Amino acid sequence: MKRVYLDHNATTQPRPEVIAAVADALTHHGNPSSVHADGRRAKHRVDAARQALARAVNAKPQEIIFTSGGTEANNLALKGLGRRRLLWGATEHDSVRAVAAAWDGPKAEIPVGPDGRIVLDDLAALLAQSDEPTLIAVMLANNETGVVHPISDIVTIAKDHGALLHVDAVQALGKIPVDFRALDIDSMSVSAHKLGGPPGVGALIVREGKTIASLVSGGGQEMRRRAGTENLPGIAGFGVAVDLATPTDFTAIAVLRDQLEAKITEVAPDAVIVARDADRLPNTSAIVMPGVASHTQVMALDLAGVAISAGSACSSGKVAQSHVLTAMGIGDDLAGCAIRVSLGRQTTADDVAQFVAAWFALYQKTRDQKIGTRAVS
Ligand code: PLP
Repeated sequence: MKRVYLDHNATTQPRPEVIAAVADALTHHGNPSSVHADGRRAKHRVDAARQALARAVNAKPQEIIFTSGGTEANNLALKGLGRRRLLWGATEHDSVRAVAAAWDGPKAEIPVGPDGRIVLDDLAALLAQSDEPTLIAVMLANNETGVVHPISDIVTIAKDHGALLHVDAVQALGKIPVDFRALDIDSMSVSAHKLGGPPGVGALIVREGKTIASLVSGGGQEMRRRAGTENLPGIAGFGVAVDLATPTDFTAIAVLRDQLEAKITEVAPDAVIVARDADRLPNTSAIVMPGVASHTQVMALDLAGVAISAGSACSSGKVAQSHVLTAMGIGDDLAGCAIRVSLGRQTTADDVAQFVAAWFALYQKTRDQKIGTRAVS
């Protein structure tokens, strides 16, 4: 049976050029802090990757701090930007929510509407409540539903109140255009493994002139903003991945995703496509099969050769209710029956057909069983 991988928001396959760059950086090793030729070659690789990322997101190379991934980048922004008060979106990734949960100062969660987008009036009202210097954290695109937040409206409100804005662009980069300068935000997180780079490397981009306190003490790497010997193979692979990532690849993927959703709602009229009409990433679909628990669907589809996830799969193995769907006002009965399907560059119409067939087989089986149960009771 052919395996079909539709979990690209969890992680996506590294490109062959990326694997080659990682292998080359391991083969021709060197510490970028060493002054000899091997060290200088390593430093050159880090600089080249920094330039590539700066080009890809329209930032300055000196604004980039390489990290161990999106999680560390979010932690660094929230803890390092030095604001007392924190406001964060209700559908943020756990790497923001966990920092918010442990936050020592004044804080509040910003609600989202049924479309999954930040409620702008609520944000403005929260900002008006306090004169405390505030940091707002809102993601560009959601990992479970693909919903894209109205960042330019949020920037306007943030500026009116003198607040800083951190944006988690981990899922957006590579899938939709991401322009740090045009977004006009204070900091932004990105991660390599979501766009065909290696796992364990990412970056925080911090607007020039903003100071950021390092989370770890040690050497002076990354302009004293992130101590520790650089992950040279990871950074080299990241540079190649961002150079190759073109959001235009996703135009065809959006067509496949829309066909997938159309087919599902045609064969199962009671299925729900979450935030179907909202501005969304081109590859992501959150689908509810009423009455069938998310983890049951994940297991049944896996047996049918299809890899998908129950909501966010970032902390694998967890089968908790999705805070994203709950924040959107979706009741437990439906939120517990949602799966996330996320397509990638390599996804084909055959892959989509295999998914729809496997999904529908489960749907029919559970409907037949229900009818049977009702008949005997
Ligand atoms: N932010 C978002 C929106 C994500 O989807 C993820 C991972 O799925 C992260 C942050 C964490 O990134 P990383 O896996 O690089 O730590």
